[in-house]
Amino acid sequence: MRDENCIFCKIIAGEIPSRTIYEDQDFKVILDVNPASKGHALILPKEHCANIYEISTELLAKAATLAKKLASHMSDVLDCDGLNLLQNNGEVAGQTVFHFHMHLIPRYKGMKNDDLLVWTHEEFTAEEQDDICKKLKL
Ligand code: 5GP
Ligand code: ZN
Repeated sequence: MRDENCIFCKIIAGEIPSRTIYEDQDFKVILDVNPASKGHALILPKEHCANIYEISTELLAKAATLAKKLASHMSDVLDCDGLNLLQNNGEVAGQTVFHFHMHLIPRYKGMKNDDLLVWTHEEFTAEEQDDICKKLKL
């Protein structure tokens, strides 16, 4: 339920202050302390789970529903031009806090972090892509 060493569990318990924009029995939504843009927020499930692999399907579905609601609300209130929904799993993927969270990052034309999430293409041969496609088929 709770991890004693987890900073987000401490925020959820109110032991570390945060700017909270929404709370219900399952989630707390806070402003990111180091925002990438105006209004950058984090959806935190109250139950401690490290990542996408650990969170229950039911809770993830609720998080997605909440993300949709917040995205519309942010768009109305902040007048942003777009929004990124981002969720990192594992250190190599950029995760720094190992309590599942979704980033809601409002985007504005000409903003400082305009190149946020810009990546270069990796090259794969058609054969390699066929192989990976075969491997990934569900
Ligand atoms: P990650 O890199 O794990 O996907 O994202 C972690 C996010 O949590 C970062 O954007 C970071 O700024 C934010 N963060 C880390 N510690 C705190 C904190 O104590 N309070 C708040 N509000 N955000 C935090
Ligand atoms: Zn936690």
